[in-house]
Amino acid sequence: MSSASEHDLVVVGAGPGGYVAAIRAAQLGLNVGCVEEAGALGGTCLRIGCIPSKALLESSQRFVEAKEQLAIHGIRAGEVTLNLAALLRRKEQVVTTLTRGVESLFKKNKVTRYLGHARIAGSGNLTVENGGQSTALAAKQILIATGSKPAGLQGVEPRGDLIGTSAEALSYRETPKHLVVIGAGYIGVELGSVWRRLGAKVTVLEFLDRILAGMDEELAAEARKLLGKQGLEFRLGARVTAARVEEGQCVVEAEGAEPIRCDRVLVAVGRLPNTESLGLENVGIETDRRGFIPVDERFATSAQGVYAVGDVIGGPMLAHKAEEEGMACVEGIVTGFCHVNYDAIPGVVYTHPEIASVGKTEQELKKTGAAFVKGPFPFRGNGRARALGQADGFVKVLADATTDRILGVHIIGPHAGELINEAAAAIAFGASSEDLARVCHAHPTLGEALREGALAAGNRAIHA
Ligand code: FAD
Ligand code: AMP
Repeated sequence: MSSASEHDLVVVGAGPGGYVAAIRAAQLGLNVGCVEEAGALGGTCLRIGCIPSKALLESSQRFVEAKEQLAIHGIRAGEVTLNLAALLRRKEQVVTTLTRGVESLFKKNKVTRYLGHARIAGSGNLTVENGGQSTALAAKQILIATGSKPAGLQGVEPRGDLIGTSAEALSYRETPKHLVVIGAGYIGVELGSVWRRLGAKVTVLEFLDRILAGMDEELAAEARKLLGKQGLEFRLGARVTAARVEEGQCVVEAEGAEPIRCDRVLVAVGRLPNTESLGLENVGIETDRRGFIPVDERFATSAQGVYAVGDVIGGPMLAHKAEEEGMACVEGIVTGFCHVNYDAIPGVVYTHPEIASVGKTEQELKKTGAAFVKGPFPFRGNGRARALGQADGFVKVLADATTDRILGVHIIGPHAGELINEAAAAIAFGASSEDLARVCHAHPTLGEALREGALAAGNRAIHA
């Protein structure tokens, strides 16, 4: 082992939490190293998460449009066929472009990249293992951003891409005839949509009596209805107890139902933090009951000089939440001050239409006994949505009944994932529904539907 390379900060993991923190720390003048065991930078998000899934959602939606929806516009296309290999190649190209982009950002910001598995050896010391080689690193501060991996399910025997996770479902070499998805969270619903659009029969088995647990119930109910119309078959209240491969076919068993035979199973029942072989015990860090690393409001762990952000600390497992924490954490290390407003972190499901939320749901507000008003507005009253031919769905603005401060916004409809950012800004600035309603929105835009929702919270929507 050569003498240790020294850094002010060593970040472990180059996902959105880690790479963003590394760049921000370098901007703030720290000498930064970042250790990543995968060959490409960008983490789950860029390699096998957000980005490839969005590339597939985009391509598969274009396929459906070309096949079924262009005629409405008076456009007649010839025979529409699918070249799945080309579609998957395009997805890989998008991923490669972005992961290389992170490499050049590291170079530009003089972040030193280390390839290998990092292990904390003791206070201020790490080792990086790569193919039998070990490199020692010394760090004044260590930031753990090791992310998460798919959770397994008791009784379900993983078997390559026959019974696999989202990582496999992003790359099936042929369209499954019948795909069974276990779990109706956002990953199950997005990837189920992709393969449904590309021609698979898709059955989603969900243990709860609803889909998209944690999202506003009204939004989730509308999503279930609209996705159901697209052919996704939801079986709710179905707890899967076993899945295995028998004579080349997959068999899935759920309580109280006949076993289902299919050719692919996607297990999408949540994600678990990555902490194995990380050397946490060498600095006395204990994980919580569910395996997450406990941190304080400045992302400090129980060990002096060791911080953690992103999926590995729990909370919403979202890339932008990890980024937010990564930036806040290093700003806290350098300046002594940092803050993340968890009430202003949006969540988006990139189905068609998109489903997006920020702030409190109606159910959360009812639970706390908060008095609130509700501003619903349907996209059928929005001119741009009509022109797009995408008038399904609605906006719902929730505001405090006394102060009118916006507490939550929930949108299912065209480009909901873009619209939600305005709502997040409003919540971050402490806006009232009247503040939002008084902002002049360009016409005809989908944003006008959000404004109408804000108007509706004061009982004065114009187009409903
Ligand atoms: P990760 O991105 O998981 O990165 C951690 C990195 O650490 C990994 O690259 C790993 O190789 C590395 N690592 C782990 N241990 C070590 C070690 N000991 N040494 C060296 N390196 C190590 N979120 C969204 O916000 N929007 C979406 O649309 C979205 N879509 C998703 C779709 C799918 C299919 C999946 C699976 C996830 C999706 N997510 C989405 C979630 C998002 O990917 C995660 O929340 C995000 O990547 C978490 O970032 P992170 O930096 O905490 O960890
Ligand atoms: P998420 O945590 O958002 O990825 O969603 C995972 C979903 O999987 C949740 O809605 C869980 O209720 C669901 N789930 C977990 N275990 C099972 C199971 N055994 N059978 C069916 N659904 C499950």
